[in-house]
Amino acid sequence: LDPEEFAVESRAAVDFIAGYYRDIEKYPVRSEAEPGSLRRLLSDEPPENGEPIDGILADVQQYIVPGLTHFQSPNFFAYYPFNASTAGFVGEILCAGLNVAPFTWVASPLATELEGVMMDWIGKLMGLPDCFLFSGGGGGVLHGSTCEAVICTLVAARDRALNRLTHEGILKMVVYASDQSHSTFQKGAKLVGIPPSNFRVIQTSAAFSYGLTVDSVRNAVEADIARGLVPLYLCATVGTTGVGAVDPVGELGELAQHYGMWLHVDAAYAGSALICPEFQDCIQGVGLADSVSMNPHKWFLTNMDCCCLWVTSPAVLTSALSITPEYLNDISHGSAAKTGMIDYKDWQIALTRRFRAIKLWVVLRRYGAVGLRANIRRHVEMAKWFELALKADDRFEVIVPRRFSLVCFRFRPRYEGDHTVDALNRKLLNVVNASGKAFMIHTIVDNKFVIRLAIGATMTEMRHIRDTFELVQEKATEIGQDRD
Ligand code: PLP
Repeated sequence: LDPEEFAVESRAAVDFIAGYYRDIEKYPVRSEAEPGSLRRLLSDEPPENGEPIDGILADVQQYIVPGLTHFQSPNFFAYYPFNASTAGFVGEILCAGLNVAPFTWVASPLATELEGVMMDWIGKLMGLPDCFLFSGGGGGVLHGSTCEAVICTLVAARDRALNRLTHEGILKMVVYASDQSHSTFQKGAKLVGIPPSNFRVIQTSAAFSYGLTVDSVRNAVEADIARGLVPLYLCATVGTTGVGAVDPVGELGELAQHYGMWLHVDAAYAGSALICPEFQDCIQGVGLADSVSMNPHKWFLTNMDCCCLWVTSPAVLTSALSITPEYLNDISHGSAAKTGMIDYKDWQIALTRRFRAIKLWVVLRRYGAVGLRANIRRHVEMAKWFELALKADDRFEVIVPRRFSLVCFRFRPRYEGDHTVDALNRKLLNVVNASGKAFMIHTIVDNKFVIRLAIGATMTEMRHIRDTFELVQEKATEIGQDRD
C-alpha cells in the first residue's frame, strides 16, 4: 500500500460518491434490472492484470449504478431507513483504513475500550437503565446486524437454562414471539437447536395496535408448562417491522421474570427514536429485560453495518460464547475473565470483527445528541404530515395509527369488498414503484394488504413527501378510472 497512491485513489472514490449523491434523484429508486442482465455484460473470467482505478470507477458508473436500488434516494421509503451521513461515511473510512480487529483486548486495547464507552454513551442517550451499562454492571457490544445479536442472546438464554436442566432439556425449551416479531427470532431459535414445534407465534390484533398483550403471552406460557415444556425466551419489539407496533416492555418483563424466561427487547428501528425523551415511555420497565438491541445503521446517521446489543449480565453471554484457543491466550495479561479486560470475541459468533466504535464516535461527536434528535424529529414530522394528508382524502384509510416515522395505509374506494381492495392496493403499490419516483413495500395485517411508507432517508425533505403523496393520489385516481 503506497500512501500517495492511496490518497489519490481514495479521493477519486470520494468524488465519485459525492457525484452519486448529487445525481441520485435522476435514477429510478427501485432497480429495474432484469435477472442475469449484469452477468451478460461482465467477462466470465476474473482479470489477470490490474487496471487503473479511473477505469474501474467508470465501469461502476456505467454498469452498476443505474441498476441499483437506491437506498440513499430521498424517495426511498421501503423496509426501514438505512441512514448514510457524512460523519457515518468518514467513520467507515476510518474503520476500513485503520483496519484493526478488536477481537481480544490485547489485539486492540483502545478499540475495545472505545466500543465500551460508545455502548455506555448510546445506552444513556436512549434512557437505558444503569444495569445495561458497563458503569452499572452490564455492558454492550457492536454486532453487524440484529440477526447476529439475537442468536447470541438465544445461545446465552439456552445455556443459562441448561445449567438447571439435563442436555435433553433443549427439546423442551420454548421461544415466544408475536406475529409481528422479526423473522430473525424464528431463524435464531432454529439455529440454536430449539425444536421448530417449540417456536410460538402469538397473535396480535388491531385492538392492541398489534402489540403483544401480557394475557396472551401468559396463556401460551401456562399451556406449555402444563405440557411439561420449559418457557425459555420471549421477544418484545419496540417498533415492529411491519407496522411499528410497540409491545408492553415493562409488563412483559415482569412476566418473563416470573417464569424465569429471558426477555429480549428488539428496538432495531425505533431504538434510535428513544434518544428523544418524548419516545422513552416506549421502554418503560426495560430494566426487567435481559437484553436490548438497536441498529444505528437504520436511523442513527450511521452507515451500514452496526447493531448495538446490551445485556444486563455479560458473564452469562460470555460463558456461552467463550472459547479461547492457545493462539489467543494473552500471556502478557492473563485471561480476560481474571483481569476484567473485555475480549469481544466472547460477545459474538465470529472472531474477526470491525472497528465499528470509531464510526459511532465520529457520528456522535459530529452531530451530537441534538443533531441526532433533530434527524429523528424531522422524519417524524414528515410522517405526521403524510398521515394527515391521507386522512383528508376519503379514498384512503390509515390502517394502524402512525408510529415513529412509519405510515401504514391503503386505498379504499367506497363500495369495494376486502378482496378487491387488496388487489387494488397491490396494483397501486406496483404502479407507484414502477414509476421510479418512489419505492415502498407492503405488509399484511389482519389478512389485509397494507402499503408501508417508512420515512428516514437522510436526504429526504418535505418536498419529497409532498411529491410522493401527490404521486400516490395520481396513481390511485388512474386505477380508479381504469375500473369505471
Ligand atoms: N428487528 C426489526 C424490528 C427490524 O425491523 C429488522 C430489520 O428491519 C431486524 C430486526 C433485522 O435487522 P438486521 O437486518 O440488522 O438483522
